[in-house]
Amino acid sequence: MHRFFIPPGWIRGETVWLGDDVAHQLRHVLRLRPGARIVVLDDRGWEYEVELLAVEHKAARGTICERRPAGGEPPVRVTLAQALLKKDNFEWVLQKGTEIGVTRFVPLITARTVATSEGGVSATRQERWARIVREAAEQSRRGALPLIEASLSLSAALDSLAADLTLIAWEEERAMSLRAAVAPLRIAAAPQVMVFIGPEGGFTAEEVAQAQARGAVAVSLGARILRAETAATAAALLVLYELGALDPA
Ligand code: SAH
Repeated sequence: MHRFFIPPGWIRGETVWLGDDVAHQLRHVLRLRPGARIVVLDDRGWEYEVELLAVEHKAARGTICERRPAGGEPPVRVTLAQALLKKDNFEWVLQKGTEIGVTRFVPLITARTVATSEGGVSATRQERWARIVREAAEQSRRGALPLIEASLSLSAALDSLAADLTLIAWEEERAMSLRAAVAPLRIAAAPQVMVFIGPEGGFTAEEVAQAQARGAVAVSLGARILRAETAATAAALLVLYELGALDPA
């Protein structure tokens, strides 16, 4: 069944009113007709199975058949603080990170971040990011939309974001593995883990030292140098895997 995150205001009593883009998608892309069923999610922990009653060009309407808790969220909350990358690669990180189970993304500006991000991230870019994350969350059956924070400098991110464990992936790290770093965490506590991944050119040694001084643990992802987007998805997946968050429920 196709899934859609919708504003909670579209749900009124037993009826769901679906606006413009969803109606267009239902009618012209999926070619669904009255009688078909979809699932809508309110991003507040609930999903609703809905039978469509009318599917017009600009609006659609359905009736709620069942309301149930939305599953699909991992018991470990991973924040991926990813240095801004060339456009397509950053978007790839958002899409794959969402599929894997990242709860929150923080776009980072670091010493070696390439200039395209100067002056902040445009509104158009932010809308595009939000759409990529929403579509990936619908496709991968997430129960909640990952949050995309405003972009931050590395030091602002280190100062303002809290986690039970903060990791910084560093290709020069020779001693600490990701596995050893996460081992002390217990999944029962629903831990929050933050992972910093550098830009194409990597973090500077000073940046890594700065992160360590604020409690971050530098970890290796193995002897190979991964591209940033590979490192991001691998690290998110490994944190969830090592903590048992990918075991079947
Ligand atoms: N330009 C650097 C590599 C940067 S890779 C060089 O050529 O040496 C981009 C980012 O991916 C890094 O900042 C780091 O966060 C992560 N990364 C890539 N490979 C890694 C590895 N083997 N261990 C830990 N982190 C890695």
